[in-house]
Amino acid sequence: MGKNELLRNIPAVEKLLQEESVSSMVDEGTIPRSVALRAIREVLGELRESVLAGETPDTSADGIVSAVVERSRRLDASSFKRVINATGVVLHTNLGRAPLTAAAVEAMKNASGYCNLEYDLERGTRGYRHDLVRGILLEITGAEDAIVVNNNAAAVLLVLGALAKGREVIVSRGELVEIGGAFRVPEVMVQGGALLREVGTTNKTHLRDYEAAINPETAMLMKVHTSNYRVLGFTQEATTAELVGLGLKNNLFVVEDLGSGLCHDLGYFEGGREPMVAERVSTGADLVTFSGDKLLGGPQAGIIVGKKRAVELCRRHPLMRALRPDKVTLSALEATLRLYRDPERARREVPVVMMLTKDAESIKADAEMLAGLIREVLPASFAVEVVPESSEAGGGSLPLAKFPTWCARVTSTNGGLSKVERWLRAQEVPVVARLKEDSLLFDPRTLMPEDYPLVAKALAAACLEAGG
Ligand SMILES: *Cc1c(COP(=O)(O)O)cnc(C)c1O
Repeated sequence: MGKNELLRNIPAVEKLLQEESVSSMVDEGTIPRSVALRAIREVLGELRESVLAGETPDTSADGIVSAVVERSRRLDASSFKRVINATGVVLHTNLGRAPLTAAAVEAMKNASGYCNLEYDLERGTRGYRHDLVRGILLEITGAEDAIVVNNNAAAVLLVLGALAKGREVIVSRGELVEIGGAFRVPEVMVQGGALLREVGTTNKTHLRDYEAAINPETAMLMKVHTSNYRVLGFTQEATTAELVGLGLKNNLFVVEDLGSGLCHDLGYFEGGREPMVAERVSTGADLVTFSGDKLLGGPQAGIIVGKKRAVELCRRHPLMRALRPDKVTLSALEATLRLYRDPERARREVPVVMMLTKDAESIKADAEMLAGLIREVLPASFAVEVVPESSEAGGGSLPLAKFPTWCARVTSTNGGLSKVERWLRAQEVPVVARLKEDSLLFDPRTLMPEDYPLVAKALAAACLEAGG
């Protein structure tokens, strides 16, 4: 067939809308008419382009109709998909960081309609949303006061704007952190309206370096936790407690951006120790900021805890209104924090804590169970075995800590595992696995009990589709 004939074969939009399999979807209400129309226009447009490019696409009526039906379903599906995380990276920022605890999910449901977000039920008067989480935050961190914003980047921005606008903030050159995306300490400083005064060197900053930089314009001494990297070897830093002493002498605010908010010493991080929020608050720092969805294992949020006067300055700042979290976030945060009242309960029920504290022996048993399920469905050209590996905390936390784990490792006699990996992501419940050299790794550390059969099923389908 020539180009012109192929182009003539492409049906009109109206005609396709009347095709039985298309019109029935619309009439039954399974696909909105607008979506069917968009699907038709897209499919026809692509066909025309393909013909004009000299290709010979399938222009049969059946072919086009089924392409339209399939495109309509795809366009109408939710953009959000539950994903199975088999990477072993616990705080996988691309996969939504912390998976929430069941208690948080329940709390979000409870708060999703009308709730007492800003209503004092006893007095029948206006309440304040921050009061809903303030009590539990003070209880867990030992701080005098607390407020919550949308994320820790917002917390730092607010703190700089409220406490140091137009004045100088002293930070060590070893702590000019960049967190994935656009959070870079020097740039946040500019946005917050403060002037960065760098002191010390990359590897060594002494207390006297801070002291020498203090001048009438100084408002704050700031410490930033090097969450996602470590300076090792010939190093020196001033502790938060030392900065608090210097701050008191010179009447300066002392603030620490902790990044990950570790809220209970569960004594489990091999190869690295994260500072605890309560311990840093107890140094007397004016403010400590941290994330809700890193090691705390809650929703995306930025938590600011510390001294009354400093928190009050943040609370009253005009930016506060722009950065305040919604009822769903606050309810999930409260539910997560409440579990920390009992450390054993946090270990069992907060997924991030549970996953990071899983011991290698129990993971090995899980990996064997998973390998067994996989073995039953794997095509003959593939093999599966259980191998020792290591998982990561991820999310810019504990960069050097290795968490010993065991993985189900899938190999193939004729390669093509990158294709399988791609097909795994295309399944109804996509599975994200780790491609390592010539193998695919499935780390049970980040799997939920209900994920195991789904991983096996997705892998069987992916192998077939990849041509195993
Ligand atoms: C992660 C991190 C941030 C940003 O926190 P978000 O909650 O992701 O906005 C800021 N500072 C430090 C030190 C961090 O580790």
